[in-house]
Amino acid sequence: MDSFTLQIASALASAIMMVSLFLLYRASPRELCLLDWTAAGVLFFLRNCLGITVFVPQLAVFASGAVVNALYLAAHAAILVGVRRHLGLWPGWPLVGVLALLVVVVNLVPVVQQSVPLRLLLMLPLVLLVCLLTVYTLWSAPDPQMRSVYLPLLVIELLFSAQVLLKIVIVALDPTMSLSQSGNELLQTSGYLAMSAFIMLTTMACALIVIRRQELELRRASDTDPLTGWLNRRALQRIASHEFARAERTGQPCAMLTFDIDHFKKINDSHGHAIGDEALLHVTTLAQDVMRGYDYLFRIGGEEFVVLLTDVQGTELGVVAARLRHKILQHPLHRAQQQINITISIGYAERQLNEDWQAVLDRADRALYHAKQHGRDRVSFYNNHNVLEWLR
Ligand code: GH3
Ligand code: MG
Ligand code: MG
Repeated sequence: MDSFTLQIASALASAIMMVSLFLLYRASPRELCLLDWTAAGVLFFLRNCLGITVFVPQLAVFASGAVVNALYLAAHAAILVGVRRHLGLWPGWPLVGVLALLVVVVNLVPVVQQSVPLRLLLMLPLVLLVCLLTVYTLWSAPDPQMRSVYLPLLVIELLFSAQVLLKIVIVALDPTMSLSQSGNELLQTSGYLAMSAFIMLTTMACALIVIRRQELELRRASDTDPLTGWLNRRALQRIASHEFARAERTGQPCAMLTFDIDHFKKINDSHGHAIGDEALLHVTTLAQDVMRGYDYLFRIGGEEFVVLLTDVQGTELGVVAARLRHKILQHPLHRAQQQINITISIGYAERQLNEDWQAVLDRADRALYHAKQHGRDRVSFYNNHNVLEWLR
């Protein structure tokens, strides 16, 4: 295909990018990164429209190399801006503006203005830098559940970087080659082809990132208790089955600890349901301090909680339970100049050979019932002989 046709194809691809990402933004207005990526589509579109004017003698006056280059660089930077916003980083639009302005100014210097190879050698390394920064930002993104979905954009940016690098090398090795405004044919056609493919694939990769994040958010919401932020009973089923299957395979210890607030009904009755809710949040916040970051925390009923612990057993488990009980006992809730004393009863049981999570939770529950029966504010557990005992 000739350069003109390819340039039109590029313009079409960028129009598709801006329209489809904007429509996606309208459907999910919380995803502001879609606006940055829409802006990337707009910038690519404007760049390509200006590029087309080169081929139309009456319009050639609009085809300023300075503006075309600035738009091209800003479009690539807008993709990076969207990635940064998606990751919760400072998006950096002012920097993009400064960079684009700098490109315009440098391109207006007479010696640069008269030499297409020089213009390319000044602009392409900046594009390469922006693409590689995008690759690095995606690579170092922290969320492991999102990693796989960053991969398409990362690979696209990497391939495009390789193409830009190749272009830099070709121009640098032979700066005298006949590059006019419409350019060396091979360099131009391959460049437009790469750009069209890049724009279309980037559109899909960006949409994929947003869709995946929304799916994960939905799943997190359906697994989470809105009051405490702890996992709910639904998540218990899935996570406990998974962890117990793993413990079965690896022989790693696994235990269930369950606790229940003592006389919680009295707290509700004397202080109201709202303070009752605050007491629930108070207890879970304190409990979180005692537990390790990788313990699974569940709220399975009104004021009933379960902790799934791995890699801990015997007396160590007893220490965790005792610490939890003390922590709640020693930190009453202070509301409206009142001190609300809260205690909890705890029961726990360790996984025995071939035991499933329901059986362990059932024993932990019986231990909890035992603690309640014997006065509350205490820890009860199954000892090595499978006999209930209090932790003293
Ligand atoms: P025990 O020491 O035997 O556990 O007594 P208890 O009063 O804590 O237990 P009981 O099961 O009799 O009462 C639990 C109360 O928890 C009853 C219910 O109104 C209250 N509750 C359940 N869910 C919530 C909630 O989300 N917020 C508030 N504020 N109260 C709740
Ligand atoms: Mg209770
Ligand atoms: Mg209860």
